[in-house]
Amino acid sequence: MIQKIETETGHEEVVYGEDPASGLKSIIAIHSTVLGPALGGVRMWPYASKEEALRDVLRLSRAMSYKASVSGLDLGGGKAVIIGDPRSEKSPGLLKAFGRFVASREGRYITAKDVGTTTDDLEIIAQETKFVGGRSYASGGSDDPSPMTAYGIYEGIKATVRFKWQKESLKGLTFAIQGMGHVGYGLAKHLHQEGAGLVVCDIHPENAKRAETTLGATVVSPEKILDVEADVFSPCALGGGIHAGMIERLKAPVIAGGANNQLLDEMRDGDLLHDKNILYAPDYVINAGGIINIFAELDGYQEEKARRKTAKIAETLTKIFEESRRENRSTPRIALKIAEDRINNTKKN
Ligand code: NAD
Repeated sequence: MIQKIETETGHEEVVYGEDPASGLKSIIAIHSTVLGPALGGVRMWPYASKEEALRDVLRLSRAMSYKASVSGLDLGGGKAVIIGDPRSEKSPGLLKAFGRFVASREGRYITAKDVGTTTDDLEIIAQETKFVGGRSYASGGSDDPSPMTAYGIYEGIKATVRFKWQKESLKGLTFAIQGMGHVGYGLAKHLHQEGAGLVVCDIHPENAKRAETTLGATVVSPEKILDVEADVFSPCALGGGIHAGMIERLKAPVIAGGANNQLLDEMRDGDLLHDKNILYAPDYVINAGGIINIFAELDGYQEEKARRKTAKIAETLTKIFEESRRENRSTPRIALKIAEDRINNTKKN
């Protein structure tokens, strides 16, 4: 069963798909196809309600449009969510039903992995649709985008530290990282190699423990991560964690991490950070490495080429920081303007 969902958020298309046989309950949101097909991962999460899932997918898909735009990619923005616990409710039948749901959009939406889904899951989804990005190397894809995302965040962090403190090295700086999953752990490895200090947390203790064992990270509880006396706070879990109450508590003068939709209210919280002189690297700018990696599949994937393009995240961020300082406007406002201008100019031509 596929049902259209009406929204007032300017999305081109939002659909709900249900398959009682497999238990699939999913929403695909296509925010924009102005620059190209809407590419974005599928998140599987135990949302408390369909409304909560809808809110998440609307925000995530919008951010994908801006991420592709600001990164200079000819891609639109979309995202999908599956309501359910990936640890207990995922099955081949459910993934195949999701694949048929993706196929029903006839290429306007291209799926990929996100929180709660894996490269192996994509292979099952791909049995039902060809519109899947980031498939395994064995299937001719660019494989898991997370290492490239982590690399891009690392390059972005270096640019952020350079701008904030005119420092070329991360040595001796302390990073508080929230979330030790694919991206958080990948980033932690880069930072560790540069001699940075790590304080980490995860709601699944075994994930945090791995960073303690292999990288010498200090582990704190998820409730304590904001209180850490860190130079950089790096959100690498889920979004919406940055809001007025949190900003009051935060000790770090820089926020730069991989999670999507970090600010609960993009403009209001962005302004608050700006007023408090906390330098914020806009999420969809700094975490674009994964989508850059998948986009590179289109002209024959070459990792080195994707890596060079991902490294340019540092230039884009520096431009945003400089403009923010010059115009005395928050970094999310500057990033949004750059992203929207490209989409609007393409619409006109
Ligand atoms: P993941 O599922 O591998 O990791 C997320 C980790 O965060 C998990 O270990 C989870 O237990 C932990 N977590 C969840 N809530 C938490 C909380 N409140 N406090 C502490 N830890 C918590 O996912 P990922 O691929 O690493 O993605 C992380 C974030 O980066 C997501 O917001 C995702 O949308 C975003 N992102 C990922 C990619 C990518 O290539 N994987 C690309 C762009 C953006």
